[in-house]
Amino acid sequence: MKNNCLFCAIAAGEIPSTKVYEDDEVLAFLDINPASEGHTLVIPKVHSEGLLDTDDEVLKALVLKVKKIAAEVKTKYNADGFNILQNNGEASGQTVKHIHFHIIPRYDGKPLKFLP
Ligand code: AMP
Ligand code: ZN
Repeated sequence: MKNNCLFCAIAAGEIPSTKVYEDDEVLAFLDINPASEGHTLVIPKVHSEGLLDTDDEVLKALVLKVKKIAAEVKTKYNADGFNILQNNGEASGQTVKHIHFHIIPRYDGKPLKFLP
C-alpha cells in the first residue's frame, strides 16, 4: 500500500473507491460506512496527516474543492443541508491519518446513522 496509507493507496488507484470527483490535486469518493446517503470524503492526493501539517496552498485548494463538491453532492442527492467534518488525532475519532473532509448530506427529519 502506497506510503502505508490507505487514502494514498486510494488516490493512486491501488485500492478501489466509488469516485465522486477527481482532478490532479484532489479525489472525492463515497465513504464505505456512510453516516447518510451520499456521505463523501475529499482528500488531497499529496499526503499529510491532518489540518496542522497540511501545506497552506494545498489546504486552500482543498477547501475550495470541498465547497464545489458539497454543492454537487447536495444537488445530486437532493439533500436539505450538509455537515462538514474534519477530524484531527485519535482523540477526535480520526481513524485514517491522511487529511480528509467529510461531506455528510442531511435530510429533513433524518438523524445521522452515527455521530463520529
Ligand atoms: P475519520 O474517522 O475522520 O478518520 O474517517 C475515516 C473515514 O474513512 C470513515 O468514515 C470510514 O468509514 C472511511 N473509510 C475507511 N476505509 C475506507 C475505504 N476503503 N473507502 C472509503 N471510505 C473508507
Ligand atoms: Zn496518505
